[in-house]
Amino acid sequence: MSASRPLLEISHVSKTYVLDRSLSDVLARKPTARLKALRDVSLTVRPGEILGVVGESGCGKSTLGRCIVGLDRPEGGSFAWQGGAFAGDRQARARQVQMVFQDPYASLNPRMTLGAMLDEALKVHGTVTNADARMKRVDELLLMVGLTPKLKDRLPHAISGGQRQRISIARALAVEPRLIIADEPVSALDASVQAQIINLLEDLRAKLGIAIMFIAHDLNVVRHISDRIAVMYLGEIVEVAETESLFARPQHPYTRGLLAAIPMPDPQRRSMAPGIEGEVPDPLAPPLGCGFSTRCPFVLPACRAEHPELRDGDPDHQVRCLNPEASTQFTFARNS
Ligand code: ADP
Ligand code: MG
Repeated sequence: MSASRPLLEISHVSKTYVLDRSLSDVLARKPTARLKALRDVSLTVRPGEILGVVGESGCGKSTLGRCIVGLDRPEGGSFAWQGGAFAGDRQARARQVQMVFQDPYASLNPRMTLGAMLDEALKVHGTVTNADARMKRVDELLLMVGLTPKLKDRLPHAISGGQRQRISIARALAVEPRLIIADEPVSALDASVQAQIINLLEDLRAKLGIAIMFIAHDLNVVRHISDRIAVMYLGEIVEVAETESLFARPQHPYTRGLLAAIPMPDPQRRSMAPGIEGEVPDPLAPPLGCGFSTRCPFVLPACRAEHPELRDGDPDHQVRCLNPEASTQFTFARNS
């Protein structure tokens, strides 16, 4: 799989938000605050893969998604699409990449029927020009996401949350993108509905061969659907690996902590790492060395001074840690 040409190659992308200053800040001549939401993020998305992106709230997952679809503009780094240029203008990029958001209600026009909304998506992107053909395509899209075409005349408030998320997915599919960024698509849904939407995304990948970047704050949510998983912390990728490799041989202490928080049926695998204590540092004042050094149970003096690079561990398994072995050796010390 690693031999295939990447669909999307994200290279050294960084995004800083300049925070608004209040009048009193301005009068007190306080410097402008700059929040580094993404720090040198490099990541590839392979054709047809499901790539999970996980990390705690505020670590930059949505910012990454927004930078990819062009809703946010990174100040550094670049994107390559199938080895070539990535469309610069949003309209052209929307035909390659679509985003599905956490809250389908907020992203759907409350006054537009579901059919009209899908018809509009087809019209705007010019994939189907003839009105009758579009009508037919709207039905196909509804069926594709497991909804009956009878729902066409409904308004978003008249359907369930799960159905609304299906509509958002149908709208994203209207332009036949090669990649969908699903930003916490199930976080607002009930557990039973979550599984249905996850299954739908998996089916769509199998049927259409589209790639999906599945963003979640919970490793458990992405585990069964992802081919690979990238773990983010404080604006950075700290570990990327095939899903199996990540669960079997997690190398970053943060990943180990996240895994330890997942209840494991096998007692041998319980408490592989001490739970993560403390708080995520203020993103306005990140630690000088490793971003995780303030919470890492295995921190060395070097970790506070030196910023680790994302390095190859196993093939296809990268980790940003100066001393990944330290936490590995700890594995069974706690098991009893
Ligand atoms: P996640 O999706 O992982 O929860 P976000 O990408 O939403 O994280 O946010 C990353 C960081 O950037 C957070 O500290 C957040 O407060 C900050 N942030 C996000 N959007 C903005 C914005 N428009 N202006 C200022 N700060 C922002
Ligand atoms: Mg988010």
